[in-house]
Amino acid sequence: MTMNTVGRPTRPEGSAANTGFTSLTGARGLLQDEPLIFELGGWDKTGVDLDEAEHDASDLAGLTRAGVPLPGLSEPETMRHFVRLSQKNHAIDLALYPLGSCTMKHNPRLNEKAARMAGFADLHPLAPVSTTQGALELMDRLAHWLKTLTGMPAVAMTPKAGAHGELCGLLCIKAAHEAAGQGLRRTVLVPTSAHGTNPATAAFVGYNVTEIAQTPDGRVDLADLEAKLGPHVAAIMVTNPNTCGLFERDILEISRLTHAAGAYFYCDGANFNAIVGRVRPGDLGVDAMHINLHKTFSTPHGGGGPGAGPVVLSAALAPFAPAPWVVNGPEGLHLVEEATAEATQAFGRMSAFHGQMGMFVRAYAYMRSHGSDGLRQVAEDAVLNANYIKARLSGAMSPAFPDGPCMHEALFDDAWLEGTGITTLDFAKAMIDEGFHPMTMYFPLVVHGAMLIEPTETESKRELDRFCDALLALAQTARAGDADRFKGAPYLAPLRRLDETLAARKPKLAWRSEPATVAPTPLAAE
Ligand SMILES: *Cc1c(COP(=O)(O)O)cnc(C)c1O
Repeated sequence: MTMNTVGRPTRPEGSAANTGFTSLTGARGLLQDEPLIFELGGWDKTGVDLDEAEHDASDLAGLTRAGVPLPGLSEPETMRHFVRLSQKNHAIDLALYPLGSCTMKHNPRLNEKAARMAGFADLHPLAPVSTTQGALELMDRLAHWLKTLTGMPAVAMTPKAGAHGELCGLLCIKAAHEAAGQGLRRTVLVPTSAHGTNPATAAFVGYNVTEIAQTPDGRVDLADLEAKLGPHVAAIMVTNPNTCGLFERDILEISRLTHAAGAYFYCDGANFNAIVGRVRPGDLGVDAMHINLHKTFSTPHGGGGPGAGPVVLSAALAPFAPAPWVVNGPEGLHLVEEATAEATQAFGRMSAFHGQMGMFVRAYAYMRSHGSDGLRQVAEDAVLNANYIKARLSGAMSPAFPDGPCMHEALFDDAWLEGTGITTLDFAKAMIDEGFHPMTMYFPLVVHGAMLIEPTETESKRELDRFCDALLALAQTARAGDADRFKGAPYLAPLRRLDETLAARKPKLAWRSEPATVAPTPLAAE
């Protein structure tokens, strides 16, 4: 039993697994089992008192809904349901979240406080601009920081995620080629190590995707790039640092070759955390790059949202940026909304309004609380932390690119598991029983059984050591040949192994009621 320094135990004697104990109710400690909210709520209950609706059924041409099948719960029941569910999930507020490429860093509470200020949080997107000057000023200042940090002259603020930013960037590129009579450029080049969103975005815009090979040391193969460039190529999409956690050393040559072939250079900026304050993508010849505010600038993400993916643009692409954007005029700040004057070449819009205000406030608070020197230190510490992990684990696990340092993520392959009968997946599941969320697995695809670990700068040395100690202990167990322990893991999670393929292929997106249990009260009489 572990004791703290005043002699109190810090964990129970023996875990559930080795006591063989199961509760009568399915609970674990004080954590109760949780049914679906539909199974929990009745149809006769509601958390609020509403007046009887006054309907003029004739307005609705007989299309009045007879009832809304939502579960009725009281406020405390609702609260408990969602808090119990949240206890079954992992969160960055609970522990290290080493998901490579996702940059799961701490979300400072100061950001949350700023985002909840009524002047930002309670604004209506259609409020007259004379009443929203403060919010517009914040967007303008954030845009200024993004342009300054990247060395780019323009930024489109409205995209709502990295992938949405990729779409925005490629639509700018398409518009620029069309304006120059180059609309027949139909191909986008993407390295084999790219994030899946890159080829997906190119295909979504209607481009053909051609892969660029990778060198044995994990970088873009220049000879292959040169061979594949030509008058049919609209753009290349390159991530830097790339998804192997390596800086593209030949980045200047990549951009020179691309521009010489008349194509644009789209940079996937999801890994900007590794270079913020140290490298300006504009100096590398980048034409468009999305910035995941929810990665580099600490706004919370996961579970599908929210996010924000502003796209910085070169002078060549800036005229095609989507509306709206903030400008400072004689009457104060306003949004350019119409495709007139300065916006005649805008390709259109990415979203109905101006983007994710809450994320803008959080990202701006993060930037201002760090300052420019602090942001530079973010990149330095993120890279230092990843290299610390790489150094500690390299003796036991096999680094995919052993030579030289990595950037902000440490990448291992599964060569070290050979002959054990244990896979990357098994190893990752066993990490859960040790209290650690698994790393990114099987990505990038170019590395066999990839394990991509990104600690971010927000982890302390103590936390990194706890993580490395756990992985080293597990690795030793794996090598000792205890395959069963891994094949059955996780043992202590609320649910064990899920059929993820089935869940992805046949998702259950709607709750189907049993006829007998649903008797919603009609809201309106026909
Ligand atoms: C996260 C990520 C994306 C996509 O960003 P979203 O905000 O999730 O849409 C694209 N490329 C890379 C390399 C990423 O890590």
